[in-house]
Amino acid sequence: MIVGAEEDLFRDSVRKFVEREMRPELMRKWARAGEFPEPLYRKWGEMGWLGIGLPEDVGGSAGNPVQMVILAEELARNGFDITGAYSTALFLGMTLAKHGDEAQQSAYLPRLMEGRLHLSTAITEPNTGSDISGVRCKAVRDDDGWVISGEKVFCSGAHLPDTLILVTTRTSTHADNLRKGLTILLVPNDTPGLRISRMDTVGRKIFGTNQLYFDNVHVPAGALLGTEGEAWKILSGSLDLERLFIAGGYVGNAQSALDLAVQYAKDRVQFGKPIGKYQAVSHALVDMRMRIDAARHLSYHAAELLKHRVPCRAEASMAKLAASEALVHATNQGMQILGGYGYTTEMDMERWFRDGRVTTLMGGSSEIQRNIIAHEMGL
Ligand SMILES: Cc1cc2nc3c(=O)[nH]c(=O)nc-3n(C[C@H](O)[C@H](O)[C@H](O)COP(=O)(O)OP(=O)(O)OC[C@H]3O[C@@H](n4cnc5c(N)ncnc54)[C@H](O)[C@@H]3O)c2cc1C
Repeated sequence: MIVGAEEDLFRDSVRKFVEREMRPELMRKWARAGEFPEPLYRKWGEMGWLGIGLPEDVGGSAGNPVQMVILAEELARNGFDITGAYSTALFLGMTLAKHGDEAQQSAYLPRLMEGRLHLSTAITEPNTGSDISGVRCKAVRDDDGWVISGEKVFCSGAHLPDTLILVTTRTSTHADNLRKGLTILLVPNDTPGLRISRMDTVGRKIFGTNQLYFDNVHVPAGALLGTEGEAWKILSGSLDLERLFIAGGYVGNAQSALDLAVQYAKDRVQFGKPIGKYQAVSHALVDMRMRIDAARHLSYHAAELLKHRVPCRAEASMAKLAASEALVHATNQGMQILGGYGYTTEMDMERWFRDGRVTTLMGGSSEIQRNIIAHEMGL
């Protein structure tokens, strides 16, 4: 992928960091323990990566979306799971910078950039998945703020220390348009009345997924992000960013699955030849490469559009759709090529296979991405 000399240097520096600080054995250890490495997050902050998407006037480095996709792609080389913390911090940080007032920006953005604050988003509920308009978690005004009651599910990273959760709540019922009654409130995860319980999932154990219970949780008036009733407007812009950054991570992880499978196909000898010499195997590897390269090009194309402030809703969705499906395909085929050894926990393929499976479900499922793209096509 040719993107420019400056970007190549940047990619190289991230790659060296990953080789040093995010080695496969460390990733395996963190995944087995279901533990997020806080010191690593602070190092991302020291590298300036958590402020890369933030404007210079709030202390960010105002990097461009191409750099952000490079970062996501390279950080995910040994597993995209951990990159979730980066892409979530990035797209929610950009959302706070765009919609937060001065007090919110100064309370949260410096700590975010130093790697001392995590961000998490709580939209999904037991009865509300793809259709955000069904949110029921209620926020009612009281004398000096809001009182939240209800339940959320699948909140990535909400359990990590020092996390600010952007909670999508229902503040009024607009019978004509349910999306209009939604409001985002900023809730620190140690707020009294909020209970957080870790969900047991097939994979993606480093960043982690949580269920949240709000039992009359009080937050001050200053917790309101943007304007009351405007959650949908805020979310629709920020979810485009999320799709693009996670697509970069999926491409990086899919490439590692391909690299591992190619190496194995060269080394593993059966019936007197390396298995990669059998067309059934080499063609499978070619198909993996083609899907990954297509997803990578779609991701960088959407990033270029965003860099030039060209609307890219369909392109960001296509990048997410293609990248998630390429990752699911690559880890599934990769396991086939590695044979029985691919099914053991000694090989990274099994972790990538488990982690990768969720990518066509979360962040807007493949069906929802197709719906968005169809809508952008006027259908
Ligand atoms: C590991 C993980 C992490 C997550 N992290 C977060 C997070 O941090 N914050 C958060 O708020 N949520 C998070 N989610 C939730 C995620 O975004 C939802 O799972 C997703 O939106 C789908 O909702 P659902 O699972 O309820 O499925 P449903 O919406 O019930 O969908 C079930 C199936 O029906 C299909 N379907 C639904 N509607 C349509 C339609 N109109 N057309 C075609 N097909 C349709 C879907 O594609 C899917 O295949 C996470 C989920 C997981 C698994």
